[in-house]
Amino acid sequence: MAKILLITGGSRGIGAAAAKLAGQRGYDVAVNYAGNREAADAVVADIRKAGQRAVAIQADMGDPAAIKGLFAAVDRELGTLDAFLNNAGILWPHARFVDITLEHLQRMLAVNLTGAFIGNQEAARRMSTRLGGKGGVIVNMSSMAAKLGGAFECLDYGVSKGGVDTMTVGLAKELASEGIRVNGLRPGLILTEIHASAGEPGRVARLQASVPLGRGGTAEDVAEAVLWLLSDAAAYITGVTIDVAGGRGI
Ligand code: NAP
Repeated sequence: MAKILLITGGSRGIGAAAAKLAGQRGYDVAVNYAGNREAADAVVADIRKAGQRAVAIQADMGDPAAIKGLFAAVDRELGTLDAFLNNAGILWPHARFVDITLEHLQRMLAVNLTGAFIGNQEAARRMSTRLGGKGGVIVNMSSMAAKLGGAFECLDYGVSKGGVDTMTVGLAKELASEGIRVNGLRPGLILTEIHASAGEPGRVARLQASVPLGRGGTAEDVAEAVLWLLSDAAAYITGVTIDVAGGRGI
């Protein structure tokens, strides 16, 4: 039986690369998206071409009721979850700390932190052996901003990802005896559309000289790390968040 994986924000960027690679590695995949149905459908088609089951499910990860609906839809359409990639995230146009609006702060935390928290709760309720599940694996998508702070650009984002890192540690301890491993990844400067969404499409090019490996990362670079953490090759690893940043920030 193929393992069932849910990826939030699976329609574009890192989530889409992970979804496609998961299809190639034999997972059935639920591809969550916020608004871009066409992109989600393209990812689903790619996974089906690899011979796996796949569905696209719209849900705003900033809306707790929608997150519950997302997990219920996965139950219905694919079956009980084995793996969860908590990946959906947003980044606002850069602003200095004092200029970050309450509205932006609240939406940032709602999607990147509360959404991830509730997503993990829903995943744990299904996977926990204590609650009758068969165990599972969770990967939380953090960011190097959690370590670097996001100063001058995105402190709200850095704080949201710092919360994700703390959640990974606490959850790994709490869920280890319930058959669930929990790890995270901290991508650095990755070539996706998130930078254009935040108003600076050339951000990676501007900063890539600061990367010891000398280039921006690709979504596929991060996807490889996701699939490794999800796999049994990482069976003895829990509670860690790994930098996927070409050496930036070490
Ligand atoms: P991206 O290219 O902008 O893609 C974002 C994905 O998340 C899309 O599939 C989008 O869906 C979905 N999404 C956005 N808001 C959502 C919401 N409210 N509910 C559900 N889905 C939502 O972003 P990315 O660069 O791949 O980033 C993925 C993750 O990696 C994020 O958590 C980000 O913080 C983290 N990260 C990225 C970088 C980087 O340099 N790219 C670095 C560090 C960390 P639609 O297609 O429907 O809009």
